[in-house]
Amino acid sequence: MAKILIVDDSKTSRKILRNILEENGHEVVGEAVNGKDGLEKYQEIKPEIVTMDITMPVMDGLEALRNIMDMDKTAKVVMVTAAGQKTKIVDAVKYGASEFLTKPFEANQIIEIINQIK
Ligand SMILES: [Mg+2]
Repeated sequence: MAKILIVDDSKTSRKILRNILEENGHEVVGEAVNGKDGLEKYQEIKPEIVTMDITMPVMDGLEALRNIMDMDKTAKVVMVTAAGQKTKIVDAVKYGASEFLTKPFEANQIIEIINQIK
């Protein structure tokens, strides 16, 4: 069981992720609607794992990832990517992302990755 913070601007994506994680025994300790909100909630909640969407308003997932890793080198951030984001994936690896999930969400992939890094 891991304590997870979900960062995604899409309410539907947050709901799908939450359901998959909770059905598999994980605890969703918070939800954030953009990178800035995610950064604030990370400091406040100190989750074990963060799922981080890339495309979000206010502050995108890459900038939020960079800020979280600056604050906490041991942070485990799983980036949520969509088709056509190869360049952003390369940047996320450079900034220290732990793993990648692809949209549309697939329960088996998500659970396998969370169990691997927790
Ligand atoms: Mg998005």
